[in-house]
Amino acid sequence: MSDMVTRLSERIRTTGPLTVAAFMTEALFDPKDGYYATKDPIGAGADFITAPEVSQMFGELIGLWAAQSWLDMGSPERFQFIELGPGRGTMMSDALRAARTVPGFLDAARITLIEASAALKSVQASTLGTSGAQISWSNRLEAVESGPSIVVGNEFLDCLPVRQAIRHGGEWHERLVGLENEDSTKLVFVLGPPLGVDTDLIPANLIDLPDGSLVELRPGDQQILGAIADRFKNDKGRALLIDYGPAISEQGDTLQALRAHKKVAPLDDPGNADITARVDFQSLTQYGRNLGITPYGPVEQGQFLISLGIESRAAALIQAAPDTKATMARQVWRLTDPEQMGTLFKFVCFDSVGLPLPPGFSAR
Ligand code: SAH
Repeated sequence: MSDMVTRLSERIRTTGPLTVAAFMTEALFDPKDGYYATKDPIGAGADFITAPEVSQMFGELIGLWAAQSWLDMGSPERFQFIELGPGRGTMMSDALRAARTVPGFLDAARITLIEASAALKSVQASTLGTSGAQISWSNRLEAVESGPSIVVGNEFLDCLPVRQAIRHGGEWHERLVGLENEDSTKLVFVLGPPLGVDTDLIPANLIDLPDGSLVELRPGDQQILGAIADRFKNDKGRALLIDYGPAISEQGDTLQALRAHKKVAPLDDPGNADITARVDFQSLTQYGRNLGITPYGPVEQGQFLISLGIESRAAALIQAAPDTKATMARQVWRLTDPEQMGTLFKFVCFDSVGLPLPPGFSAR
């Protein structure tokens, strides 16, 4: 049995079952045994693969998007270029290479990477070591110096801890993680107390579901958007968040654990599998609106990348190196095809007041 399971079961025996969010926090970020704290999980040989790791074109288009956004903000002499959860640093590295073509952008950018994992910070430092850019790290968005900002994040929101609620006896209850019995170390889901005032956090279209229904609450999304809205209050800013999930709030348990590209049960081996949950884009854009930042999207990834010019980028790369033709075609397909990442993954943008329409989005 792993140290993590021993510790979690002792904690549950002493202080009672944990919320799903507390379980996720331990499993992913415990400084000693947490999944992100200890591993470099991203890539073909690891547990999961992300869009920037599929193709350099992904980060390049994000870089051009950021450069256009900087121009839209009036080319501030100095601005914060912030990435949330940069993983291996690949997206930022590709973005900086592409954005270099826009005069002044790189000189103006102060780059900060928001990263919780010490293991991934060191991977990022080596990926970006040759970029020539001045880079710093922070654990929290709130701690980054104020000023005009461009914020980007791919597959960051999906690993923020979620709470789950179950409808029981006509009321919403917290779903908790407990033990199968007093003497066991097997983790199981158990029904917790009524949500009380937190029932307000349930999306309006899901509030009246029948007994047995399950919904997820995403307190981390609210916290991140709150920090973004604070930054955008006195300075211009634009944020691009990319993740997987439905456009309209849906019921259902979406906790997913991945290990070596295979799904495993979320409670089975905490610390050794990546645990994520789908992002609820309807609630996300609504939070943004409530906070006074202007939401755009969600736009499906395939549509977004095509409108930003992924096909002509692929054509240019093929022209420069004709033997990459099949590889490039395959990468475009993986990123944009509806059966691949093209529709499940979506882009949303949040703007400070008064900026023009962001690239890749249409007016509402
Ligand atoms: N954006 C990268 C990595 C996605 S994995 C890519 O697309 O490849 C999620 C990343 O977010 C990891 O780098 C993880 O360590 C980081 N992360 C997750 N939750 C975090 C938090 N609360 N604070 C800071 N970093 C976090």
